[in-house]
Amino acid sequence: MKNLTLLAGRQWPAEQGHSSILAAATQVNIIENGRCQRCGAFVSAKLPNGKLYCRACIGIGRAVEGNVLVRYLGHAEFPKQKNGGLTWSGHLTSQQEKISAGLVTNFLEKKNSLVHAVTGAGKTEMLFQLIAECMKNGQRACIATPRIDVVNELYPRFKAAFSEIKIGKYHGREFKEPDLDQLTICTTHQLLKFYQAFDLLVIDEVDSFPYVGDPQLHFGAKNAVKTSGVRVYLTATPTADLLEEVKQKKLRLLKLNRRFHGGLLPVPKEKFFLRPFLQKERLHSKLLSEIIKAVESGHPLLLFVPRIEQIPVYLAALRKEHRLQKAQVAGVYAADKQRLEKVAAFREQRLQILVTTTILERGVTFPHVWVIVVAADDAIYTTASLVQIAGRVGRAQHDPTGLVVYCYHQYTKNIKLAVRQIREMNR
Ligand SMILES: [Zn+2]
Repeated sequence: MKNLTLLAGRQWPAEQGHSSILAAATQVNIIENGRCQRCGAFVSAKLPNGKLYCRACIGIGRAVEGNVLVRYLGHAEFPKQKNGGLTWSGHLTSQQEKISAGLVTNFLEKKNSLVHAVTGAGKTEMLFQLIAECMKNGQRACIATPRIDVVNELYPRFKAAFSEIKIGKYHGREFKEPDLDQLTICTTHQLLKFYQAFDLLVIDEVDSFPYVGDPQLHFGAKNAVKTSGVRVYLTATPTADLLEEVKQKKLRLLKLNRRFHGGLLPVPKEKFFLRPFLQKERLHSKLLSEIIKAVESGHPLLLFVPRIEQIPVYLAALRKEHRLQKAQVAGVYAADKQRLEKVAAFREQRLQILVTTTILERGVTFPHVWVIVVAADDAIYTTASLVQIAGRVGRAQHDPTGLVVYCYHQYTKNIKLAVRQIREMNR
């Protein structure tokens, strides 16, 4: 029999197993009043046998009418540790310290927070005291983010900072048996597997896809945190509805508009192109010269293209260029099987150019990186994504500047607003 407490705070369709726990758990109809109880979606799809099932959360196992959703509240007990298990010995800047203290106060007063901090402000470090406060009382916390790459980046940093705390990492690309972790770091999709589990839920990059605009993930996030629990949202580009919640006093706003090294955000260079960026398998000479400039300066380059199918075309054109012969290039996109390996290779500077879609627009830090957005006027780039992309650059203390180029045929409102927002933050 599986140790009961390992499943504390989790929910799962009964047919997924752990039947020995049923007696101790709560059981609800997984589809109730035409609504999926796991993700909150209204269901209308039917199986051949006429039973309703939920399409919205099918990725984590099918919820079928008449089946049971098991919720095991259990009692999770964790050792109370002095310092909350925090073994990090770094220092916060005075501005970071203010946010960090504000988060602790809000947590103790059971108030939800929105942290609006510019890209490169050092959000992760500002969370350490907050997490420690939660751990100190033997409570349970979760840091969730819409992006797998962000999960992979956060996990080692928290492991290093809280070496005495049991930390679990969960996302759809890695199967891991449910375990009882005092700190869980996962994608927002994984939250659908939890029920009333956390005393503290932090959602990083809260304004990003797929969490933003996905009511199921919002439903899951709400269910995953205890009714007495506290939520914290982190973003560099808050959405209008979050700011509205601040106005309504449902969220306390903590704002930080300086990077941790005190330097300004790099302001993007706007480059107008009359002819196509790529024609007859050759790059536009203006685009090529920007790329060469980055590579020759020794900076790794992220080249953003709007669509997956453009990646191989750009890769072929880059490989053809004589002056880039020595550069190692690769492309990466969301469903790429080697995504994690390629991102790691780029981080270690074994790759000089990485052609990417918006999956790498945020949450990831590459030392010394420069970026070029090929068709910044494409509708896929929102103001927030353009700001986030620019925010990849100049994050290191000893290299606080760098090149950001938005290439366009048509000047768009989003380009204009992104540049304006960056300038305003710098003021
Ligand atoms: Zn569902």
